[in-house]
Amino acid sequence: MEYGISTKCLYGNGLTSSPDTSGAISFPIYQTATFAHQAVGESTGYDYSRLQNPTREQLEKVVASLENGIDALAFSSGMAAITALFELFEPGDHIITDCDLYGGSIRLFNNISKKNGIEFTHVNCSQALSGDEYGKAFEKLVNERTKAIFIETPTNPMMNVIDIRKLAKIAEKNKLLLIVDNTFLTPYFQNPLRLGAHVVVHSGTKYLGGHNDTLAGFLVTSSEEIAQRLRFIIKTVGSGLAPFDSWLILRGIKTLAIRMERASKNTGRIVEWLLCQKRVTKVYYPGIPENPGFEICKGQAGGFGCMVTFEVETKELALEILKKVRLIQFAESLGGVETLVTYPITQTHADVPKETLAANGITDRVLRLSVGIEDEEDLIKELERVFYE
Ligand SMILES: *Cc1c(COP(=O)(O)O)cnc(C)c1O
Repeated sequence: MEYGISTKCLYGNGLTSSPDTSGAISFPIYQTATFAHQAVGESTGYDYSRLQNPTREQLEKVVASLENGIDALAFSSGMAAITALFELFEPGDHIITDCDLYGGSIRLFNNISKKNGIEFTHVNCSQALSGDEYGKAFEKLVNERTKAIFIETPTNPMMNVIDIRKLAKIAEKNKLLLIVDNTFLTPYFQNPLRLGAHVVVHSGTKYLGGHNDTLAGFLVTSSEEIAQRLRFIIKTVGSGLAPFDSWLILRGIKTLAIRMERASKNTGRIVEWLLCQKRVTKVYYPGIPENPGFEICKGQAGGFGCMVTFEVETKELALEILKKVRLIQFAESLGGVETLVTYPITQTHADVPKETLAANGITDRVLRLSVGIEDEEDLIKELERVFYE
């Protein structure tokens, strides 16, 4: 029997690996670095916490069940997860990525992966795939050294939607790994592995943790072979998530479903409000029927998420909003219960080359909201105050 997603948030697939017999409802924190052996060749299944720890293992099982993967690995941050993932590749390998990605991923690829001999082609995937039923225009980017495609959908911060099924077909035909960073929509709204992706990435710091209090990252896969290679990598490079942080994320995930419901409802209301304001010149949200990604997002996800990016009339107004906000806080990050506003050009995307920013439409008038679970009336009042008072 497979549980529904809200139940999985509490119990995963119902399996528990707790060696604890006390009946504790909350999974224990195994705050230990190492584990004792009875004799040579005998192990409890745990040897050293860099390899595995029961609390981390429980978290990994829950996340694997949410994403319908055969295995999930928990890392000390989203960037640690992506860094470990890139240990699958070798000098000379070529990877196609979308041009609109989390700024930290772009920084990693441009400065570290490139130095390690990996080559990249950055492309606007939604554009390259649109108007071509078979994705032939996109496929032209593939060469004999291409190993993988790496995307986020909706993209950060411009909220472009990429057709995962279409990319999965291209990946299969050309024997490429399709990697989807699913941080924005979370497994509550979108399951890329079910759409044909091979690896899902998460910044667990965001919606999975959900409380802006812990850093974490995940890799989830549908492939036994990749799972084994990633297990070797995590124990070798040592960037696995600590027991206490694993427990915090386990606790956060318990309320993922109700947080996503509430925050996306708030987001719908805020989007409606933004669309009515003359001082707002653009609203980027896949849930707007006029958005070019609306139908694709509807076809591959159960919701449009809780992130909205918008552009205001002038840079001065953008700066004024950032100065005036009180209930909404001006801070980097997203996915927590608190509504945050970000200025991508100086924060999340500060290290992104100027040409990329311009091509993606990230100007000094663009703001990004991560909508939380406050009362929607309070959020609207706050917006009215910072825009007009
Ligand atoms: C935040 C984020 C990351 C990086 O995760 P950290 O936990 O901050 O290291 C990667 N991808 C996306 C989409 C993110 O929002």
